[in-house]
Amino acid sequence: MRFSRAFIPTMREDPSDADTASNRLLLRGGFIRKVASGIYEWLPLGVRVLKKVESIVREEMNAAGGQETILPVVQPKELWEESGRWVKYGRELLRFKDRKEAEFCLSATAEEVMTTLVAHHARSWRSLPLMLYQIGIKFRDEIRPRFGLLRGREFLMKDAYSFHADEADAERYYEVMRFSYCRIFDRLGLNYRPVEADSGAIGGSFSHEFMVLAETGEDVIAYCDSCAYAANLERAECRPINDVQSPKPKAQSPEDVATPGKYSVDDVSAMLDLPKERFIKTLFYMADGKIPVVCLVRGDHELNEVKLRRVLGSDQLRKMEKGEYERLCGAPVGFAGPQGLAAHAKAVDSMALIIADHAVAAIADGVSGANKKDFHILHLSYGRDFNADRVADLRQALAGDACPRCGKGKIEFLRGIEVGHVFKLGTKYSEPLKAQYLDRQGKSHLMVMGTYGIGVSRIVAAAVEQNNDKQGILWPKSMAPYEVVVLNLDPEDDQVTEAAEGVYQELKGRGIDAALDDRDESAGVKFKDADLMGIPLTARMGSRSLASGQVEIKPRNGQVAKVPLGETMGKVCSLLDNYKPQ
Ligand code: ATP
Ligand code: MG
Repeated sequence: MRFSRAFIPTMREDPSDADTASNRLLLRGGFIRKVASGIYEWLPLGVRVLKKVESIVREEMNAAGGQETILPVVQPKELWEESGRWVKYGRELLRFKDRKEAEFCLSATAEEVMTTLVAHHARSWRSLPLMLYQIGIKFRDEIRPRFGLLRGREFLMKDAYSFHADEADAERYYEVMRFSYCRIFDRLGLNYRPVEADSGAIGGSFSHEFMVLAETGEDVIAYCDSCAYAANLERAECRPINDVQSPKPKAQSPEDVATPGKYSVDDVSAMLDLPKERFIKTLFYMADGKIPVVCLVRGDHELNEVKLRRVLGSDQLRKMEKGEYERLCGAPVGFAGPQGLAAHAKAVDSMALIIADHAVAAIADGVSGANKKDFHILHLSYGRDFNADRVADLRQALAGDACPRCGKGKIEFLRGIEVGHVFKLGTKYSEPLKAQYLDRQGKSHLMVMGTYGIGVSRIVAAAVEQNNDKQGILWPKSMAPYEVVVLNLDPEDDQVTEAAEGVYQELKGRGIDAALDDRDESAGVKFKDADLMGIPLTARMGSRSLASGQVEIKPRNGQVAKVPLGETMGKVCSLLDNYKPQ
């Protein structure tokens, strides 16, 4: 590609509404343009990057035995009704009607379409295992589209679905895909980490997210400083503390204390001069629209709603309204506590499920609301003064916690961007969508499924979040729009032009992805643009250096090397071989 002919509309200034480095630099470098909130155009330079990511993903999916399909972006309501998700998916699913009033949605994911396809056309044990995938546009009407390509509404995803005869085969293949994802992110040259993720009702360790490490990431990774444990904070387990089974009650019995107008743990602990770890927070939820759930967590801990959902096996969970809360405990918001709560709830005709975090079940001399206005209660002991229907891991992990896996190390946090997710689905979709096969004896079984997503367009932005400096982007070699750009610094000098053309052609001839900056622009502009675009190597050719037979070769993040014209190829190849953006 000759830059004099290329459509690469770079910008000198930062766009005013770009909220992250990747958004800013991809706009400035002429990779993308914004059309509407969360909706982007891919310009030629951006397409080159996207296609490189896409082909690495495709090669690895094929290597893992996958077969590529192309599924529709417009999907009929009926398929989504069969799985129950037409109602459940919520407003991220963009729905509309055609001229005949038939209802459709834009593909937010494709479990329904793919499972139905397989249910209709793969009915024998001979067809299994089967992995089908697509690399296609998804639309999700995200509540807050932001950070450019990182959280768009229209984005490119690779979604794969596997179908198996039994659990064991699905679990075997889960490991194949996990390995395949590692290969993809290794080949992309990204600094990433696979982490345990929430697997909802499936349980077990069959959900991993792949995180590109970046300080700007929306996700928090909890990892052990001494073993290999790493998990999404949503999922990060906490070890039960102390001797949960038999806390030792203090001799003192519970006693009310007036706390007029004070209800937050901070305020009450300051007023009573008691540490926050002695407090019990009482939090009210409604599960499945009808089951009152009361959660007890320690005053210095935060409830993790993802864990609560898993404990309840419910994805329909909301905080209670003020009125519901006050009816259940008989006190204004802020003054609830576990003692006598079950009895009070029962009296007002509502059976509440009380779930305590492990750390609360270890409290022997605690403080909580007294279920009456302006009062707290002291000296509460779990087992003696209050109980729970269940004791579970409910709290958010904290930096410094003991590692839940090895017990020896400490938990630390890192930020990351989720770029991929592997997930064992079980029969969640094969059941409602009737994906069954006949075994050798002619007996019918449900297929066991897995689903595997990669945010192809998100990867492009994540790579930039991870690799940028003041001058612009630093692409990993495998994703760079061009590996080398030959800069013709004196296009009016025929000798330079001829030599630059020669180097450019020879690079291409050797299979190197090269471009030629032959524009009628100053050397400074050419240097700046190549840096902004994140090109790993530039070969700089101007009248002065060429007069002494030399070419200057500069890695994006390194020093200029002067080499004789005849050694240009060798030098480019060796620098490229060793190129790392960081
Ligand atoms: P998130 O928690 O970030 O919303 P998700 O759990 O909704 O992600 P999946 O449904 O597992 O994501 O989708 C598979 C992959 O698609 C994700 O790992 C991510 O890389 C990508 N992805 C999801 N939502 C978006 C989006 N709004 N914009 C760009 N990529 C996305
Ligand atoms: Mg999402």
